[in-house]
Formats: sequence, C-alpha cells, structure tokens
Amino acid sequence: LCRSPCDASVEKERTLAMIKPDGVFGNYTDKIKEVILESGFSIITEMVVQLDEGNATVFYVEHSHRDFFPGLVKYMTSGPVYIMVLEKVNAISDWRALIGPTDARKARISHPSSIRAMCGLDSEMNCVHGSDSPQSAAREISFFFGEMPGGIVRHEEL
Ligand code: UDP
Repeated sequence: LCRSPCDASVEKERTLAMIKPDGVFGNYTDKIKEVILESGFSIITEMVVQLDEGNATVFYVEHSHRDFFPGLVKYMTSGPVYIMVLEKVNAISDWRALIGPTDARKARISHPSSIRAMCGLDSEMNCVHGSDSPQSAAREISFFFGEMPGGIVRHEEL
C-alpha cells in the first residue's frame, strides 16, 4: 500500500547539535560524537566557535524575557562550543530524544542513558543542545552556517 506519498516519510532530515562549553571543557566531545555515529546519524559538518554576548543573545532570543537569560548568556559565552549538523531520517526528534530532558538532574532519573544524564549538571549547564522543530533547525543551521544577522561569521569569510 505504500506508494509515492510514503516515500516522503523516509526523507533524511538535518538538525543542529551543539556541545555546550561545559561539555567541551569536560572533554565529552569525542564520547558524544561516538554516541552520535553509533545512533545512525551522519555528521555533515562540524566546527568550534566561541560565542560572544551578541551571538548568544540572538541564538536564544526566544528566552530573552526569562529570568535565567543573563545566566544562560554568561554560560554560553564561557568557552568554545562544538557545532555539528547531523543528518538522518527523523534527525530532529531522534537527536532530542538522545539528549534527554532539559534538566540534567531529571534526565538522570527519567532518561539515564541520555547524553544530558551522562554529562549535564542541572537545568542550565546541560552539556548539549538540539533544535526542537524543523523551523528551529533551519534557523539554527543558518545561524551558524548561513548569513543570519547576529549569527556567526566564519573566519574564511572575514
Ligand atoms: N535554561 C536555564 N534555566 C532554565 C531552563 C533552561 O538556564 O530554567 C537554559 C538551558 O541551558 C537550556 C536553554 O536554557 O538548554 C534553553 O532552554 P529550553 O527550554 O529551550 O531547553 P532545551 O530546548 O535546550 O532543552
């Protein structure tokens, strides 16, 4: 029964994955990449970036009214982040499932094999990021690899 409309559901999707400063400082990058590859994702491109206050503010602008925002910007600019574009069928929701809930303390209880359970600390320092929808994935990939105002300008383009 599965004719051409079904083919759309097996199309590959891309998402933006980030190892946050605590993950990079904690030397989790290689382990996380291993989990990514074992879980069937391809890493399409990767780079290390130091966010500044302006970049971090634009990236997390949807949270700019929250009281945790100043702490979040400070955390996200505290060191380099490791950026990857991941690809697979269902990449967006599968990567979210693999990283686990936002609060790493809760992740350790409800999703003990998740990445945040492995290397996150709490609801702020949670080690990794993943786009939460196709719209965010498109926006975040273009933030790091496109020409978004307030986004990242790669060195070779300077
Ligand atoms: N965050 C925080 N305090 C909170 C909730 C979130 O510092 O109470 C930080 C945390 O680093 C989180 C980011 O803000 O990953 C974005 O929050 P969101 O709710 O979008 O969670 P995520 O999509 O990253 O799971």
